[in-house]
Amino acid sequence: MTKHILSIDQFTRKDIEKLFKRAEHFKAIVEKDGGTDLLKGHVSANLFYEPSTRTSSSFAAAMYRLGGNVIPINDVQYSSVSKGETLEDTVRTLEQYADVIVLRHPDVGAAKRAAGVASVPIINAGDGVGEHPTQALLDLFTIFEEQGRVDGLSVAMLGDLKNGRTVHSLAKLLALYDVELLAVAPNELAFPPEYGKVKTYESLDKVIDKADVLYVTRVQKERFASLEEYEKVQGSYIIDGDVANKMKKSASIMHPLPRVGEIHFDVDANPRAAYFRQMRNGLYVRMALLEQVQAN
Ligand code: ASP
Repeated sequence: MTKHILSIDQFTRKDIEKLFKRAEHFKAIVEKDGGTDLLKGHVSANLFYEPSTRTSSSFAAAMYRLGGNVIPINDVQYSSVSKGETLEDTVRTLEQYADVIVLRHPDVGAAKRAAGVASVPIINAGDGVGEHPTQALLDLFTIFEEQGRVDGLSVAMLGDLKNGRTVHSLAKLLALYDVELLAVAPNELAFPPEYGKVKTYESLDKVIDKADVLYVTRVQKERFASLEEYEKVQGSYIIDGDVANKMKKSASIMHPLPRVGEIHFDVDANPRAAYFRQMRNGLYVRMALLEQVQAN
């Protein structure tokens, strides 16, 4: 059976525990030796139909630090996609050369479609407003690292909960744990109903001193029909040093990034700011995921 990673739905707590043990293992290896040759001779293809900095480069770094190599297609406009090639044909092409395909695509369900024709594992690196399962896993790993536990925590998600795929996957993942989920969003950007009944606050003040984790997101400009609609909600919430200091001393501020003004630079030096460590954790978790899908 091919081991695709398409949705957070396919993970149990036990799977996650196992995965995070491997991520810890790779963290120790990277810190000590820089890498290993566990996946020597393996090739991954990064097939990105949407912009990416962290996901694309951390998957590439993960493969290199496992001893493998990467075919980077980060700009599909310079590939045969611009000649009209279908996703299915592009996937069937890349599987001739690569052992795993990391796919980002603007359509919900694109990774599942690709998996339907692929003979190598497909990893969903974001399918439009659908899911971003590997981001949710690195987010959860970060919560464990920062807070020492997940059960019993209050996690506030802030911003574009309607269009943000990272919060979609993370909400599903946190549902496996005993977590109080607090949603903060303008009415127009609340969680879609398929993510369950989440009580939504319009004001951050209501939750700021309760949250153990504040997960901030960017308003997803590219998902709006017009600039006017985007501008109506952009800038609804801004975390600056004063807001950050209203949080519990032990709280963590996270963001999948990029930020476009939601978190002031003056928060970066605050010990609660976990977003740079969160990025770094992406490397270790993606090393563990690549190992998992490449194991015989
Ligand atoms: N980088 C994340 C994503 O691709 C978050 C974002 O773009 O806002 O979904």
